[in-house]
Amino acid sequence: MAGLTPSVDKLLALIEHKQDDLVSLTQALVQIPTINPPGDNYADCIELLKSRLSTRGFQTEIIRAEGTPGDTDQYPRLNLIARREGSRPGPCVHFNSHIDVVPPGKGWNDDPFAAVVRDGKIYGRGTCDMKGGLAASIIAVEALLEWMPDFPGAIEISGTADEETGGYGGVAYLAEKGWMAAPRIDHVIIPEPLNKDRICLGHRGVWWSELETFGTVAHGSMPFLGDSAIRHMTAVLDEFEQKLFPALQQKVTAMPVVPEGAKQSTLNINSIHGGLAEGFTGFPAPMVADSCRLVLDRRFLIEEQLSEVKLEVQSLLEGLTKSRENFAYSLKDLFEVVPSMTDQNAPVVQSIARGISRVFDREPEYVVSPGTYDQKHIDRIGKLKDCIAYGPGILDLAHQANEYVGVTDMVESAKVMAMATYELLSGEQIE
Ligand SMILES: [Zn+2]
Repeated sequence: MAGLTPSVDKLLALIEHKQDDLVSLTQALVQIPTINPPGDNYADCIELLKSRLSTRGFQTEIIRAEGTPGDTDQYPRLNLIARREGSRPGPCVHFNSHIDVVPPGKGWNDDPFAAVVRDGKIYGRGTCDMKGGLAASIIAVEALLEWMPDFPGAIEISGTADEETGGYGGVAYLAEKGWMAAPRIDHVIIPEPLNKDRICLGHRGVWWSELETFGTVAHGSMPFLGDSAIRHMTAVLDEFEQKLFPALQQKVTAMPVVPEGAKQSTLNINSIHGGLAEGFTGFPAPMVADSCRLVLDRRFLIEEQLSEVKLEVQSLLEGLTKSRENFAYSLKDLFEVVPSMTDQNAPVVQSIARGISRVFDREPEYVVSPGTYDQKHIDRIGKLKDCIAYGPGILDLAHQANEYVGVTDMVESAKVMAMATYELLSGEQIE
């Protein structure tokens, strides 16, 4: 910390003095169970953010993502954008956090929405992913406004819907409508829980598809009179085991993906089903299956093209149509996202990196996420490249029982966010 000018010390002290406020803001956010699916209590959470930020001079806008998946009058997909204009023109720094949390699941020691504080940690669903990060960004910005009331440019804070279910009712919608897009915004920090001393530059790509094989029904006692779609699918899985999985292991990326295992291309079979519908009651009927379906979850690297990724599977299937009698299939795309990786020399990366080295006295670690998050929409739809994820919380705890966020981690990352915001707005580096 040596060498900081007194004024920056004052900014950091302001943040430390706000620790109790940071804890109670995080608790208040966690105590609103914004469970998604289905999208519970978004209105309450958006209202909390709106009243907090409007009393601090932010203009606020509540935007409902009409017509997006899951948007109904009972479960409106609500988003908040709060903007505070500076005293003169300049760039816009935007902090984006999703307000939704995944269902709590079982195995909790405390009520998952009580936000119990114990041993310097706040426990609860959404503490780590990512209401702790949201609260830290608010405290960082509020401290910065006190420290530098006449800042240039603009600061925005958003609370958005549905990240956990793809972000269509949240950041994707806002990017399409120009809210979360260039040139309105210049720099974006997403305080997802990537650990306080790491900068997440982006994520791998995703291709989900549904594969179906076809057969002919017959009595289960005379399967030779029919043609089993499940046996055809078994042949597909054999091809995957013999050819596809070994090929994917050979593909290793130069992207700094964590954890180590995700540095290669991966494939998961998310689900498989053939024959009688699941969930029947009574006794099963003896039937040869005329349909078998599976959902592929292929994660790919920046070195790969989506078209090649698809072709790899298609050519195995085409091979089977030649080698295997009566083999017929359909392959349907469900979801696709291309990889995204912000340049390590981009301004937002560099300013957060300097903040980390000041607060922790070490260089940051640069990482790429194995799965995607809202950066995909900001990059692809919003055409905004200066975007990263940086925030408190331990990535591995996200979505787990007894999820928590460390109070010190939140304070320290708020310091990093505040210093980086100052640099991005002023164009000056803190000495
Ligand atoms: Zn998250």
